[in-house]
Formats: sequence, structure tokens, C-alpha cells
Amino acid sequence: MNLTAPAKSTVHSKPNALLSEYTTFRLGGACRELIACAYPQELESTILDLNKRNENFILIGGGSNLVVADQGIKATVIRYLSCQPIIIKEENDLIISGSTLLDHAVLFALENSLEGLNYASGIPGTVGGAIVGNAGAFGKQVGDYLKSVCILTKQGVKKEIPASDLGFRYRHSNLKETGDIVLWGRFGLSWAARDPLLTERQDILKLRSEKHPNLQTHPCAGSFFRNIEPTSRAERRQATGWFLEQAGGKSLSVGGAKIFDRHANIIVKSNGCTSQDVHDLHLLMAKAVKEKFSLDLEREVRFVGNFRGMPAETQGFIW
Ligand SMILES: Cc1cc2nc3c(=O)[nH]c(=O)nc-3n(C[C@H](O)[C@H](O)[C@H](O)COP(=O)(O)OP(=O)(O)OC[C@H]3O[C@@H](n4cnc5c(N)ncnc54)[C@H](O)[C@@H]3O)c2cc1C
Repeated sequence: MNLTAPAKSTVHSKPNALLSEYTTFRLGGACRELIACAYPQELESTILDLNKRNENFILIGGGSNLVVADQGIKATVIRYLSCQPIIIKEENDLIISGSTLLDHAVLFALENSLEGLNYASGIPGTVGGAIVGNAGAFGKQVGDYLKSVCILTKQGVKKEIPASDLGFRYRHSNLKETGDIVLWGRFGLSWAARDPLLTERQDILKLRSEKHPNLQTHPCAGSFFRNIEPTSRAERRQATGWFLEQAGGKSLSVGGAKIFDRHANIIVKSNGCTSQDVHDLHLLMAKAVKEKFSLDLEREVRFVGNFRGMPAETQGFIW
């Protein structure tokens, strides 16, 4: 297994692709063109080519943290995702392409008796998306085990930088501001017996299936708002779902956008749902918590494109 692109290119493009087919919310209109690629080199040459042609683009991975506008976007969308893991093992380090699905990376680590990624079992999306958003669960996050990352700036400059330069904090890295693209990441893991890792993974998957919506029946983008910042260093983050529930959030809905019955911080799509419904419902949820607790919720899910009522100062395609 290596990160080098095969002779037969995986790059393919589709004009006017519907973004509802590439996001877990199953919502969103068309983009100008969707270019799919799996390997770092292919992504690099795609971006260099778009830059040469002065074309606007955005990059997505698994589309599991996005709500795309109903009218779509007037830009090219690059989808950096591989259905097969693209990973090199160097002793206890794994060098993983940003396009590899996070859960495939977890399985690869487990099969190689490596510990450090197991907590991420079942988190949708790619390793690239997980690094950008410092995805996590059970008190652990991607930034904890990342040693370095190879990025490509939007202008096409490639460099490897230490993970400590990424400013990781709760569900955040500096990459959210810079817009730099993750080609691959190097994770430092440690040896562990395989069977306990497997048991732990199965327990996590079971827990997740009890708590999280099944994407086939309840399309969504996971938790909509970030958990609440602690008021002192001694405290942990408080679950936003609890505040939403106390504020009557579970009874809210707009059109086909509803609250998941087992988790007040998750909006799910039902019949007739539009992206604008989701946008409007998230405003109602934030208003309910503000009125009851005087707390301002911070959004975790990212919007792509234009929505009625979006902040005037919002610029760019992803906000
Ligand atoms: C059912 C469900 C459960 C979830 N549970 C969790 C959970 O437990 N913990 C958690 O943290 N999250 C969770 N999420 C949210 C989501 O899975 C994560 O945020 C995930 O890491 C997003 O990855 P993605 O590839 O889908 O990114 P996308 O949604 O495609 O993109 C998200 C952002 O990342 C950027 N991006 C994507 N790939 C790259 C790249 N290679 N380089 C630079 N930027 C990139 C995009 O431009 C965009 O700004 C859940 C979502 C769902 C639907």
C-alpha cells in the first residue's frame, strides 16, 4: 500500500452534479462541476489546474458536516475521498491520505494492532475532514495522535508542517481559517493487543448506533451545535443537547426539518425537507437556548452557499 497514485487515474468529473448525492444530509442543489479524486498527487494537480484557470472551488470529503444550499453553488467542488484506505505503515506510524475514510483508518490501525484511533470508530467522513475539524468522541480527538500533516495552500504551495502548528482545540484547527488543504497526515500510534481493540470498537459502534441516527433512514450532519464552553478550568464541556432539551428544542420543527427524537442537538431530514428548513430550524434552536439560559450556541455544522437570513458579512462558499 502506498500514497502514490496508480497509473490509471481515479480522477473523474461530473458537470452540474447534485450535491445532495455527496452529503450525508442528502440536501443541496447543483455545483458547476464535481471533480472526484482519491490520491494526494491527483488532488494537487487538480488544484493547480483550477488555479491556472482561475476557477473558484471548494473541497469536500464525506460531506458529513455540511448543509448545502437548495440552489447549490456557482463553483467547482472537489471531492477528495477514497473508497479504499490509502495508508503507509512505518513502524508504529501511519501515513494516511486525507481522502481515506476515518473509519477505514481505524480498522487498518486495529488490524495492525495499533492503538490511538479506536475512539473514532463509526465517525463518518474522511481523515482530511477529521483533521480540519479535530473530530473526536469519548474525550479524545484526532489532534491527539497526529504528528504532522502535508498541506496544500489554496495557492498551490505544498508543505509538511508539525501538528503542533495547527492550533488544535475543541473541534477546531487553524485550517478552518486558512483554508489549506490536507493531502495526508502522519499519526503516531502505539502497539496494543488486537482483540481488546476489536472488543472496544464493537462496544463503541453499539453505543453510537443507540445514540446517533441511522443515515439511511435519518439523513443528518451530526451534532448541529458545539458543546458549551466550561465556565472554569475544572469543568468539562456541557452537552448542548441537554440545554436544547430543557429549552423545549425537541418539539421544534420547520417544514421537513425535525429534531432527532433521541438527541436534541441533531437535526434530521424528513419528507419535503429543504436546506432552508434546516437553516431556519437551527436559528429557532439557538433562540430557544438564548431565551431560557442566556447562552449563545456556536454552530458546528458548516453551511455551503446562500441562505435567506444568512449574516450579511458572510463571504465565501463555506461559512
Ligand atoms: C451521524 C453523524 C455522527 C457524527 N459524529 C461525530 C462525532 O462523534 N464526532 C465528531 O467530531 N464529528 C461527528 N460528526 C461530524 C462529521 O462526521 C465530522 O465533522 C467529520 O470529520 C467531517 O468529515 P468530512 O470528510 O465529512 O468533511 P466534510 O463535511 O466534507 O467537510 C467539512 C469541512 O472540512 C473541510 N475539508 C474536508 N476535507 C478536507 C481536506 N482534505 N482538507 C481540507 N479541508 C477539508 C471542508 O472544506 C469543510 O469545510 C458526525 C456526523 C454525522 C452525520
